[in-house]
Amino acid sequence: MDNQIPDINTTPTKKIGRYLITAALPYANGLKHIGHLAGAYLPADIYVRYLKAQKRDVVFVCGSDEHGTAIPIQAMKEGTTAQAIIDKYHPIVAQNFADLGIEFDIYHRTSSPLHHETAQAFFTELNNKGHLEVKTTEQYFDESKATFLADRYIKGTCPVCGNADAYGDQCEKCGSTLSPDMLINPVSTLSGNAPIKKETQHWYLPLNRHEAFLREWILTQHKQDWRTSVVGQCKSWIDGGLQPRAVTRDLDWGIKLPDSTPGINANDQQKVLYVWFDAPIGYISATKQWAADHQKDWKPYWYAPDTKLVHFVGKDNIVFHCIIFPVMLQLHGNILPENVPANEFMNLEGDKMSTSKGWSIEMEDYINDWVKPENGGESMADVLRYYLTQIAPETKDSEFTWKGFQEANNSELVNIFGNYINRTFVLMHKLCKGKVPPLHATLVDATDHQLVAEIKAAAIKIESLLEAYKFREALFEVIDIARKGNKYMQDKQPWMVAKNAVIDGQLTPEGQQQIDNCLHLCLQLAANLAIFIHPFLPFTAGKLCKMMKVVPKMLEWENAGRIDLLKVGYSLREPQLLFRKIENEEINYQLEKLKAKAQSATTTIMESTQEAAQATQDEVAIAPVSPEIVFDDFAKIDLRIGTIVAAQKVPKADKLLQLSVDLGFETRTIVSGIAQHFAPEAIIGKQVTVVVNLAPRKMRGIESNGMILMAEDSEGKLHFVHPSTAINNGAGVK
Ligand SMILES: [Zn+2]
Repeated sequence: MDNQIPDINTTPTKKIGRYLITAALPYANGLKHIGHLAGAYLPADIYVRYLKAQKRDVVFVCGSDEHGTAIPIQAMKEGTTAQAIIDKYHPIVAQNFADLGIEFDIYHRTSSPLHHETAQAFFTELNNKGHLEVKTTEQYFDESKATFLADRYIKGTCPVCGNADAYGDQCEKCGSTLSPDMLINPVSTLSGNAPIKKETQHWYLPLNRHEAFLREWILTQHKQDWRTSVVGQCKSWIDGGLQPRAVTRDLDWGIKLPDSTPGINANDQQKVLYVWFDAPIGYISATKQWAADHQKDWKPYWYAPDTKLVHFVGKDNIVFHCIIFPVMLQLHGNILPENVPANEFMNLEGDKMSTSKGWSIEMEDYINDWVKPENGGESMADVLRYYLTQIAPETKDSEFTWKGFQEANNSELVNIFGNYINRTFVLMHKLCKGKVPPLHATLVDATDHQLVAEIKAAAIKIESLLEAYKFREALFEVIDIARKGNKYMQDKQPWMVAKNAVIDGQLTPEGQQQIDNCLHLCLQLAANLAIFIHPFLPFTAGKLCKMMKVVPKMLEWENAGRIDLLKVGYSLREPQLLFRKIENEEINYQLEKLKAKAQSATTTIMESTQEAAQATQDEVAIAPVSPEIVFDDFAKIDLRIGTIVAAQKVPKADKLLQLSVDLGFETRTIVSGIAQHFAPEAIIGKQVTVVVNLAPRKMRGIESNGMILMAEDSEGKLHFVHPSTAINNGAGVK
C-alpha cells in the first residue's frame, strides 16, 4: 500500500513507558455476555490501543480462569469432566473476544503447567517468609461423598436476603459475599445431604496484618486518582474489618499445594490453592508465556518500579484487585497496581443481566446475529463497541436497550460520523478530481482557523480523557469533532460555490480555490477522525486508512491534531459505507428473542420450584392512598438527589446500614434500615433520593441526618428511588 505521508513518521517506533494491562480472567465455564465485555475487556482494549498508538511499551494479558468451582459443577450438569468443560469454552470465548476486536497480546490458561508452577512458587515464597498462617478448623464435610464442601459445593439460605439458593461463597440474589458457615440450613450440592463438621488444616493469608498499609496506599495515596466508587468500596471493606483468608481448600480441582510445603500431611485430603489466590497470579504466568513466545524478559513488567500495572475489572472484582492481590504482590516483592478502573454493572432492558435467567446477550449471540458479511460484518462489531462505550458504567450502573443501540448507530455513527466521511469523499471526488486539493493561504478565513483550532483542541482533550480512563467522555469528544466537521461543511457549502461561482459556464479560479480549501481541511479532519476513533472502533479506522490509502502507522497518536496528514495532490479511493442504518424490525426481533430466551429459562426454573409458581399467582397487594394534603404540606419536605459514597453495617443491628451520602453541598451520615436488602459494597455509587430536612435522629448511637426514600414491591423487596439518568448531587426533587 502507498504511504503518502513520507515526511512524517518514518523514524522507527521508539517505545517509551512500560505498561502491563490486565483484564479480569473469565471463568471458562460458559459463554460470556456483553455486560462482561463492557465491564472489563472493552475499556481495557481501548486503553491498550491508545497506549500502543502512543508508542508505549505495553503488554495486554488475559486468559481463562479454569479453577473456579463453577467449572466442576458445570461439568456435573453436563455429565462430563471439568477438563472437557475448559477445553470446550476456552477457545470459544477467546474467539468471541477476537471477533469483537479485543486484541490481547496473550489469552492464556490457568490450567497450563507454567501457571501451576508459577502459582506454587508464589505460595511457597509467601509461606517460607512467614507471611501465611496455618490453622486447623472444622469445616463442612459430605460423608456420603467423603469430601469437604467449599464454595459452590454447599448451598443454603442467605443470612442477608433470605434467598434459599445461596452458595457457600456468594449469594447471587443480593450479591453478598458469604462463607459456608454463614449459610442457614446448609446442604451439600453433591448429594443434597446435610453436611457434618470435620477438622481440617489450612493456610491463611492474614489480611488483618496489612490494614495500615491498605489504608495508607488506597485511602490516602490513591484517594484522588482512583474512581470514587472503587475507593468507597475499599473503604467499606477495610472499615468492616479484614479477616485472615484461607489460601487453600480441600478439593480435587485446582492447583495442588507443593509437596515440599512444611507441615503438609501425606494422608491428608487433597489440598489445592483457592481460586482467588491462583487466578490473579495468572496475569504473571500469562506475561511469562508471552515473554517466552516473543524472546522478551517478563521481569520488568512485574518488578520494575516504573512499570504501570493497571487492572480492568467489574465492580464484583474490586476487593480482589485492590485489597487481596496487592497484599500478595507486596509480600512477594512485586509492583502494585497504578489504578484499578473498575466499572459498575450494565443492566439490560430494565433488569440485571443474568445468563442463568436468560436475561443476557452473549457475545456469541451478538456475533452470530450481527457480525456477518450480509449484516455489516466487522463494522457491526464496532457498533457494539461504540454503544457499550457510550453507555459505559464508569461511575454508575447503566443500561443496554436495543432501542438505545439502534439510536446510537443511526443518529451518531450513521448520521454524524459516517455522514461526515461520506460527504467529504463524495465532494472531493466530484469537485476536486479525487485528489487532495491544495490549501490557498490567501483565502483562509476565520471559519477555517476555527476548525483547525477545534481539531487541535479535540486531540488534546481526547488524549487527556483517555489517560484518565474516561472512555465514555473521550468518545463523546470524537463524535463532537465530527459534528463540528459537518457544521463547517454546512457553513462553507462547497456545492453551492460550484453552482454559483460560475462565469460563462466555467467555475471561476477563486471559486475552485474556495472549494479546495474547504475540502482540504475536511480531509485533514477525516484523517484525524481515523486517529481519534481507532482505539474505540478499530475496524472503522482500518477502513478509513484504506480509503485514504495511508499505512496504519498514520494512526499513531503523535499525528493527532496535525493538519498536514494527507499530502496535496494524492488521489484517494472512492468512499466506502462505514455504517448502515439499523431498522426497527431488527430491533424488534432482538427484543422478542430476549423475551423468549428469558421465558424458556424462567419456565425451567419455575417447573423445578412450586413455590415460584405459587408466587406469581398471588395477588399483588397495593396499599390504599393516604389522606389528602395541601401543596404547602408537601412543599415543606426538602427532597434532594445524593450519591452513596460509603456504606457499612451498623454493629449489632442486623437491619441497619450506616451510609455516607454526598449531597453536593455536603456529605451526610444517614442510618437506613436496609441491611437485609442490600450488601454495603453493592450500593456504593448509587444515586438516591434523600429527605434532607428531617430532624436528626440517633440510632444505635449514630446520628442519622436524613432519610433515604425507598419503594417497596409486592414481595416486600426494597428499591431505591432515583433519577433515570445520573444527575448532579444536591438536585432538588419536586
Ligand atoms: Zn442474599
